[in-house]
Amino acid sequence: MVPAKIFILTGAGVSAESGLSTFRDKGGLWAEYRVEDVASLAGYERDPARVLEFYNLRRNSHRDVRPNPAHVALGQLQRAWAGRGGEVTICTQNIDHLHEAGGAENVIHMHGEIGKVRCHDCGDVTAADGELSLALGCGACGRIGGLRPHVVWFGETPLEMDTIYEKLAAADLFVSIGTSGAVYPAAGFVAAARSGDIETMEINLEPSENAFLFDAARYGKASEIVPAWAAELIGQM
Ligand code: NAD
Ligand code: ZN
Repeated sequence: MVPAKIFILTGAGVSAESGLSTFRDKGGLWAEYRVEDVASLAGYERDPARVLEFYNLRRNSHRDVRPNPAHVALGQLQRAWAGRGGEVTICTQNIDHLHEAGGAENVIHMHGEIGKVRCHDCGDVTAADGELSLALGCGACGRIGGLRPHVVWFGETPLEMDTIYEKLAAADLFVSIGTSGAVYPAAGFVAAARSGDIETMEINLEPSENAFLFDAARYGKASEIVPAWAAELIGQM
């Protein structure tokens, strides 16, 4: 049976072929910085300038990246499903904008977005193009120096969890793409789907840590496997 509602979770692997390194890649930005210094609230409170410097580097590495065929195919699948009264929800752990650049809409960024800043004081979220610095002021509350990256750090709660669990519970098929299944709560979505009798599939370069929990799996590069799978589904419609 063709699933009417599909919930897709993506991770760093879907953007790897666009040139953004995954977290385990050797030589990536994470190899040069300690996670606890630059991706935690405690690290930010200790040395906000260093955290902003790290995110300015990350913002630069995101500037010229382009969507790959996996992002484009997910956008096409979403439109095809919407056109027939179905729904494809795309929930990503990635802070890049490659799903949107590939044509997807209403993407849930559970770990935030690299192109936005959030005021540490009043919580206001805005798009920010230029360099982050302690000299910038918040457009909402006016405080200078409190604009932090709008990304979820270790120890912080991911965003939009209520919407995520609602969409997941309503799905007929859960598909995990390019994620190692090591970081919760996203790593727990497959178990939540199973307990709701929702079919599950993983697409990844290699079996993830949760591979044994999926009903089906396809292994290989996202840029090849995702377009082939999406075309198959669209063909069955
Ligand atoms: P990840 O780097 O842990 O896993 C990426 C997965 O993608 C791997 O399983 C890999 O086999 C797969 N992959 C790589 N290239 C691929 C390709 N071309 N096609 C298909 N699959 C491919 O990333 P994740 O699962 O997104 O991590 C989840 C979250 O955890 C991240 O959003 C991040 O917030 C956090 N994280 C942070 C660190 C860190 O800071 N050191 C480490 C791990 C995870
Ligand atoms: Zn503010």
